[in-house]
Amino acid sequence: MQTHILGYPRIGSKRELKKACEQYWSGKIVLEELLTVGRSICSQNWNLQKEAGIDLIPCNDFSYYDQVLDMSLVVGAIPTRYHEVALKKNNSELDLYFAMARGYQKDGLDITAMEMTKWFDTNYHYIVPEFYKNQQFKLTSDKIFNEFAGAKQAGINAKPVIIGLVSYLLLGKEKEEGFDKLDLAHNLLPVYIDILSKLQSQGAEWIQFDEPFLALDLTEKAKEAYTFVYAELRRQFPKLTFIVTTYFEGLKNNLSLAASLPVNVLHIDLIRNPEQLEDALDSIPESLSLSLGVVDGRNIWKNDYEKSLSIIKKAVEKLGSERVFIAPSCSLLHSPCDLDFETGLQSEIKNWLAFAKQKVKEVVILKELASETSDHNILLDFENNKKAASDRKTSLLIHNENVKLRANSVTEADSQRKNSFSVRKETQQKALQLPLFPTTTIGSFPQTAEVRSWRAKFKKGELTAEQYDTLLKKETQRTIRWQESIGIDVLVHGEYERNDMVEYFGEQLQGFTFTKNGWVQSYGSRCVKPPIIFGDVSRPEPMTVYWSQYAQSQTDQWVKGMLTGPVTILQWSFVRDDQPRSETCKQIALAIRDEVQDLEKAGIRIIQIDEPAIREGLPLRKTDWQDYLKWAVEAFKISASGVEDATQIHTHMCYSEFNDIIKNIADMDADVITIECSRSQMELLHAFADFKYPNEIGPGVYDIHSPRVPSKEEMTELLKKAQDVIPSNQLWVNPDCGLKTRHWEETEKALIAMVAAAKEASVEY
Ligand code: GLN
Ligand code: ZN
Repeated sequence: MQTHILGYPRIGSKRELKKACEQYWSGKIVLEELLTVGRSICSQNWNLQKEAGIDLIPCNDFSYYDQVLDMSLVVGAIPTRYHEVALKKNNSELDLYFAMARGYQKDGLDITAMEMTKWFDTNYHYIVPEFYKNQQFKLTSDKIFNEFAGAKQAGINAKPVIIGLVSYLLLGKEKEEGFDKLDLAHNLLPVYIDILSKLQSQGAEWIQFDEPFLALDLTEKAKEAYTFVYAELRRQFPKLTFIVTTYFEGLKNNLSLAASLPVNVLHIDLIRNPEQLEDALDSIPESLSLSLGVVDGRNIWKNDYEKSLSIIKKAVEKLGSERVFIAPSCSLLHSPCDLDFETGLQSEIKNWLAFAKQKVKEVVILKELASETSDHNILLDFENNKKAASDRKTSLLIHNENVKLRANSVTEADSQRKNSFSVRKETQQKALQLPLFPTTTIGSFPQTAEVRSWRAKFKKGELTAEQYDTLLKKETQRTIRWQESIGIDVLVHGEYERNDMVEYFGEQLQGFTFTKNGWVQSYGSRCVKPPIIFGDVSRPEPMTVYWSQYAQSQTDQWVKGMLTGPVTILQWSFVRDDQPRSETCKQIALAIRDEVQDLEKAGIRIIQIDEPAIREGLPLRKTDWQDYLKWAVEAFKISASGVEDATQIHTHMCYSEFNDIIKNIADMDADVITIECSRSQMELLHAFADFKYPNEIGPGVYDIHSPRVPSKEEMTELLKKAQDVIPSNQLWVNPDCGLKTRHWEETEKALIAMVAAAKEASVEY
């Protein structure tokens, strides 16, 4: 039996890499200083795994920005627009690399960044490779070899982690027509062969190919590519030990394909899809070993040793211990680094958790327990683990009978408004008296350095609650006055009291806790610190009424109440694993429902429930979509449906394509939906048009992700495009998303132009 790790977090346990990269980008440190930080993180990670007793330690899992971009650089998939960056003297390979990641605006050049998108169903984002017809590839960077050599110096014969050839192609995008990216496999193969030759000559014995697409729906062409590529690699390198890893889903219908590949070890994710074990044991050939992903790489819970051991024993019985590997389910990139830093967590809860460093230990302990050679200490670990698991099952911190009872007694009526949209629309028109093309914003206004400094000071005790409150009120009032002055129809309070749209609610709900240092890489140097949902969720008291009521008291116009929806709160948190996600989501939905009703009682007549993450929650396999959408849509409706017809419910979504889920979006039955649209030139709206979406809709007319101020004419143009496909009496006018990352200067100009465009449209109508 052997242990291995698919990949370790590379941001550094105190986000050293984030800080060093940002300093390098702003010119505060030189290249050599950045490289020193990178090398030191690598060696810390290696030593930590070595000391823990891991058998196969990965290298090339480190990255200065993104592992897919690393691969693009290594194989020379460098779009021509960056070639000039490489030619500038003083620019290193890393400068070229960062230019691809972040764009390049100096030395008289102005080059956009490569596109970024989500890594499967995680919150990690990768840089999308760009592919062209007949593209040629060439070994261009020594990164992999340098890291291998670095590990060797540390006394480790590391296992280089390489994105498998087929997955690498599937991750990319064809940038011109007339070819299929998989056609490039023939051109790319020689570079993979070069990489392996060189690693082999450096003394590498193991190679890990990440092929997550093997666990997804595959076309025939992709299946053929797998067979072709691995046959060729095997033929060229009969002596290297190949590990192919799959994760985030089960092999399912691709099992026979995966089992037929001429590789040595196949890794499967038994957290996401435990059911695949039996099938895998039944069908893998004798030449193949199985790597069992039994420690959850995507979540923060302690492993249940008893459960994992039963899986390992089953595998050992069937395959013999030499053919069994023990590992986390996927790369630990998606886990925070080290629980030891969490000094503020309640000790009972902390005892249920394991971050990356702790997970490495778990893998080793599982091997020892499974080999039955365990010494006294390991047996003690086992006893403690059993106790933590049983404590968690019965803890009063987690289990709240009232919450469970309420969730169990939800009826269909709870997710239905009193009347259909056509009836509500009339009632709302009478009650709200809004003009044609009503204008609004998505919620937040600029969170200036000043606003953030108040919060920081308040947290440090340098401002009293009263002082903090006064400052926020002033800012809110100023924002209300300003919106009135430029003629916006539905006002917002500005969300100044919020640090983050999920954290703000999590902090006020029971069942949530927060870490001090539980950072996970989101993209490049950006990290997120998701809340931990550990128990039954309930709302001890109103969360937003105070601020909405205050804002409404300052004006005669409508102020929109602003909430984060249950699916988004779920999606952007670490979620408990002792009940289905749908159940946790329902509990959050009930808490939000109470909030919606309290807002209504307080006189708020328009309430927005943001669900930007509803689409990203979609399962990776299409067959699972409807099940997810059913409970996700139901959760939204539970939160939204407890109000009178006259109360208008809005929802908001961004970074979404709606084509394949438009029916479900319509089922959410929000009175108004606002969506991000401007960058796609209203293309995203077509899904709504084709579906004849009946409710009201506010397609974003300006891109808030850029400081650029759009002109009135541009927005008029977009509005016309919207009118071409959606009846005017269904249309709202608003920006793409919240304005919290913008500055006031550009925000003012843009919104004034937006209001002018809306007024003009209604005059012309
Ligand atoms: N109401 C939130 C805001 O305006 C919505 C943010 C989002 O969609 N991501 O900031
Ligand atoms: Zn948004």
